[in-house]
Amino acid sequence: MNDTIRDLVRRRADDRCEYLHIPQEATPFISFHIKHVIAKQHLENDGVDLSGLAYACDRCNAFKGPNLSSIDPNTGEKVDLYHPRTNVWSDHFAVSAGMIVGLTPIGRATARLLRMNDPRRVELRLKWLEEGGNIWIY
Ligand SMILES: [Zn+2]
Repeated sequence: MNDTIRDLVRRRADDRCEYLHIPQEATPFISFHIKHVIAKQHLENDGVDLSGLAYACDRCNAFKGPNLSSIDPNTGEKVDLYHPRTNVWSDHFAVSAGMIVGLTPIGRATARLLRMNDPRRVELRLKWLEEGGNIWIY
């Protein structure tokens, strides 16, 4: 993947992790990556497609891995994971007291699998909000 594509994906995401919606500047010790939302191992064509790429912090990138689905903790049902290109973040997540709350089966399953509310991540999110930062909601 070349630098032009990396830069396009980074700028499209407004320099924020597309799962947590927190910017790189709020997490200076965590590097961000360009992620294939659908891991290349699942695809016939492994060419670069911007619609299949997302900007993600290293924790989201690692926890999501090649997973496409997980289990809704409320119902035990298998559901697709949040897809930054086809789902709207605010349809599936909200932020309350620094915690990311899953509003739908997709939101709950993704928040749990990506460990969005691990204590250190909540601490970073609260610090960012206290310093006047915002969680990118659209
Ligand atoms: Zn992230």
